[in-house]
This record gives sequence, C-alpha cells and structure tokens, in this order.
Amino acid sequence: MKISGNSFCPCGSQKKYKHCCRIFHYGENPKSALELMKSRYSAFASNDSLYIIDTTHRDNSDFTQDTKAWQEDIHNFSKQSDFRKLEIFDFIDGEDEAYVTFKATIFQGGIDVTFIEKSKFLKVDNQWLYYSGEFMT
Ligand SMILES: [Zn+2]
Repeated sequence: MKISGNSFCPCGSQKKYKHCCRIFHYGENPKSALELMKSRYSAFASNDSLYIIDTTHRDNSDFTQDTKAWQEDIHNFSKQSDFRKLEIFDFIDGEDEAYVTFKATIFQGGIDVTFIEKSKFLKVDNQWLYYSGEFMT
C-alpha cells in the first residue's frame, strides 16, 4: 500500500509518516535498533521492499542474493496484509547488539495473523541491521 506523507505513520507514533519512518526510508540512518524496527514495520506496510532488504543482516535466514525473488516475497506479504497496529513490549539496547519485543497486529483477508516477536539487531559499520527473530507465545 502506498502511504501518503501526511497520513499517520504505520508504526503508531502518532506522527505524520513524512516526519517519522519515511525519513529512514529516504536514507537517514536510524539511531537505535528500536527506530530501525519501527521503520521496518512501516516499510512492510508501505511495500518498501528495498528498505527491508537493505536493513537485513547477511546472516539472516531470509537473506539471499536473489533479491528479485526476495522482493517478490515482500511485495506479496505487503499486499496481502493489513497492518493495523504495532506495539512495543520491550527494548534492550546495547552497544552493537539490541533486542526489541513487539506485537504486530496484522490481518490477511480478514484472518488474524497477529504475532509477537523478539527481534535481534546487530550494529555493523555503524548501521543497525535486523539479525533474527523469535516468535513468542
Ligand atoms: Zn514511524
């Protein structure tokens, strides 16, 4: 879904998208893993597959050199999903390793596929990257 700069940011900040996660989608470097996490959620919501790819660590299980197929997967997920809400449950910051636990409320064709995930982030060359995620129950 294309998101207007003047609509509320999908990450739930209550700020306009153009003053929130879009700054990062346009190239600014998130200062914390938490900012990165929120901006990745917003990137899924706005179907910005290149941002997802650029912020994924090379050792992540999704990482592939076949970026065309990967982009396709992200597009499909974004198109099929209705990103309703993001809630941050926990943020453990660190020098070059950080964790964010969040709940993503997502519906696909009326079906609730909401999940809670604890994500791990690593800082590489001064840039936070998504390393891995673990589903919580
Ligand atoms: Zn945002």
